[in-house]
Amino acid sequence: MNATPSSPPGIAPLDVERIRRDFPLLKRQVNGHRLVYLDSAATTQRPSVVIDAVRDFYEQHNANVHRGVHQLSQEATAIFEATREKARAFVNAPEVAEMIYVRGTTEAINLVAQSWARPRLKPGDEILVTTMEHHSNIVPWQLVAEQTGAVVRPIAIDDDGTLDLDDLDARLSERTRVVAVGHVSNSLGTVNPIAHIAKRARSVGAITVVDGAQAAPHYPIDVQALGCDFYAFSGHKVFGPTGVGFLWGRREWLDAMPPWMGGGDMINSVSFQGSTWAPLPSKFEAGTPNVGGAAGLGAAFDYVSGLGLDRIAQHDHELLQYGTARLLEVDGLRLIGTSPKKTGILSFVLAGIHPHDIGTIVDRDGVAIRTGHHCAQPVMERFGVPATVRASLTIHNDRADIDRLVESLEGVRRMFG
Ligand code: PLP
Repeated sequence: MNATPSSPPGIAPLDVERIRRDFPLLKRQVNGHRLVYLDSAATTQRPSVVIDAVRDFYEQHNANVHRGVHQLSQEATAIFEATREKARAFVNAPEVAEMIYVRGTTEAINLVAQSWARPRLKPGDEILVTTMEHHSNIVPWQLVAEQTGAVVRPIAIDDDGTLDLDDLDARLSERTRVVAVGHVSNSLGTVNPIAHIAKRARSVGAITVVDGAQAAPHYPIDVQALGCDFYAFSGHKVFGPTGVGFLWGRREWLDAMPPWMGGGDMINSVSFQGSTWAPLPSKFEAGTPNVGGAAGLGAAFDYVSGLGLDRIAQHDHELLQYGTARLLEVDGLRLIGTSPKKTGILSFVLAGIHPHDIGTIVDRDGVAIRTGHHCAQPVMERFGVPATVRASLTIHNDRADIDRLVESLEGVRRMFG
């Protein structure tokens, strides 16, 4: 099966066979089988265009940015800033200066917690996070709560993994200062209604901080339409390199926030009488950034835009439906996360078999999946399981990949009787 079948008219299906050829790593064999990579939620593989852009940067343009008058430094700066503009377009931010380079989603959320929340929160203030958050959208808030006397409160989720919007409403009050929510849950695949949540948060004067790590590779993102205050994502989840990502924030907040880290490149002037800060975005970008990573991420944005995010979303949706139906054919399989609004993540348990055993056995068949708590222990607790098996879907996966997973799971079933 090369393409996504039965796409609605107007949306051309992705040519998966061709896309697969773009990824050198997918050509390799694992344990004597063609690799089926179903772990893109942990990190995506990189297409040649991204690898080539990184290599080209180091072979042709490598220099530090913003600091040199020489040719190479100007070229490196141009590449670095071009990726910032591509990131702006990727999330439809109003201004390029609102796009802050970070190492990834984790750093972005810590930045907001320490620079926006820490100076503002008082004892008794509340930070709402959903029960389905990744630890990187829980722990930074717990740290700032300890520092300020604020309290972190979880918003409940339903049995199918949908966010309980009544519970959100019940918990929102004049004490709420921050609502921190994932756009897409990495452990359940649930897509959260960010525009609605941001509106409700605003009605009590709270800001909305969105962890976009799992949404960025699957949907067109429009921070203006979402109406949130901050949006974070990681380059390595959108086919770019590790160690580079973005935080988008509203200018009014970013201008009012103190720098988070001090060092080179973020100052206007430094003296022992006191220092002043550079304008946005430099104020939040102390030290030498990951310029080679930025070169690769620029190529990744081009690659994804070239395929078309609406086509990617459609592919994802159809493969998810196929995968859901096929997995439910496996005896004793229970899906964790069945919200009607979800994207390409299939989390499940198999009665009587530990997820780690499943992961190890299917790896022998060349199928790479993730097992564990997925850095979302409160979700595991909510569903009463220590861990799940997670297959995550992306542009280079097709029905044959799902079939290989199911075949391998049938083998696991037989092995355990
Ligand atoms: N948030 C979600 C939903 C994730 O899935 C991940 C990574 O798996 C992160 C945050 C953390 O991203 P990073 O490790 O790139 O900072």
